[in-house]
Amino acid sequence: MTDNAIEKSPLTLLGLGAMGTALARAWLAAGHPLTVWNRSPGRAEPLAAEGAAVAGTVAEAVAAGRLVVVCLLDDASVDEALAGVDLAGKDLVNLTTSTPGQARARAIRARERGVHFVDGGIMAVPPMIGAPGSGAHVFYSGSRTLFDSHRETLAVPAGTSYVGEDAGFAALHDVALLSAMNGMFAGVSHAFALIRKENIEPTAFAPLLADWLVAMTSSVHAAAAQLADGDYTRGVVSNLAMQVAGNATLLRTAEEQGVSAELLAPYLALMERLLADGRGNESTTGVVDLLALRPTRLRTVGA
Ligand code: NDP
Repeated sequence: MTDNAIEKSPLTLLGLGAMGTALARAWLAAGHPLTVWNRSPGRAEPLAAEGAAVAGTVAEAVAAGRLVVVCLLDDASVDEALAGVDLAGKDLVNLTTSTPGQARARAIRARERGVHFVDGGIMAVPPMIGAPGSGAHVFYSGSRTLFDSHRETLAVPAGTSYVGEDAGFAALHDVALLSAMNGMFAGVSHAFALIRKENIEPTAFAPLLADWLVAMTSSVHAAAAQLADGDYTRGVVSNLAMQVAGNATLLRTAEEQGVSAELLAPYLALMERLLADGRGNESTTGVVDLLALRPTRLRTVGA
C-alpha cells in the first residue's frame, strides 16, 4: 500500500499566523484532512486553495473533528477564541506558547469541561516546520492517552518529545531552553560589541565564536551531573576561584573597548558571591542554587 492510500486522521487547526500556517501546510502536504479557522478570514484563503476546509467560526471548526490544535498568539487569545465553545469530548492540543502555570490552569479547566488536554512548546521557527532534518521538535505534556492516540498526526510537522503528565512541563522545557538561548544571545552581543570598533570583520570572527560556543556546550552535561549528585567539585577543570580571578580582565576589557558590561556583570557578580561563600574549589554550578533560592510566588496550584 502506498503512503497516499493510507487514510490520514482529520484534525482542526485554530490560528493561521506564521506558525499556524506552517503547521497547516505540513498536515495538508501529508494528506491529513484539515479544517482551519483564523480570526482574520483572509489568512485562510491560500490554504483553502491547498485543500483545507475553512470554518467560519471556532464552534464550526471544533465541530469538524475530534482533534483540535490551537496555535494563537498567547494565552489570552486562546481564552478569547475558545470562550463559550463546547469542547466536551474533544482532544485539545495547545501549541500556543504559555507559561507552565497557564498550561496547568488550562488543563484543570479542560478536565472540568470533559476535554482531554495536552500542551505543547514548539522548538522551531516556521521554515523548520514540515522540513525533514530541520531539527524542529515540539515538547508535549499532559494526557498521555491523548498524546499516544494522536502521536502520528502530531509528528507530521515536527519531531515530538513527550515530557510528562504534568501539563506545565512542556511549557517549562520550552521556556528553559529559550531562556538559555537568550543567555547565549546576550554573550554573543557582548562579544560582537567588544570587536565593534576594531578592524576585525564580524564575518571572520563569527566562525571562531560559533566553534567556541559549540565546544563549551559539554559544560551543560557536566553541570547536570553535578546537580544530580550534589557534588559541585566533581570533575572540575576550571574552578570558580580561577574564573573569578579572570572577571576583572573581562570587565576591564569591556571598559577599554568602551563597551557596557550590563549583560555580563550580573553573572560575574553571582560567581563572586559563591567565592565569598568559600566555594572557590567548585565549578560555577552553584549559581543555580543562588538563582533557585527565590520564592516562587507566582506558582499556580497544579493539575
Ligand atoms: P503570529 O503573530 O504570526 O499569529 C498570531 C495568530 O494569533 C494569528 O492567527 C492571529 O489572528 C491570532 N490571534 C491573535 N490574537 C487573537 C485573538 N484575540 N483571538 C483570536 N486569534 C488571535 O504568531 P505565530 O503564528 O508566529 O505564533 C503563534 C504561536 O506560536 C505563538 O504562541 C508563538 O509564541 C508560537 N511560536 C512561534 C514561533 C515563530 O517563530 N513564529 C516559534 C515558536 C513558537 P489574526 O490573523 O486575526 O491576527
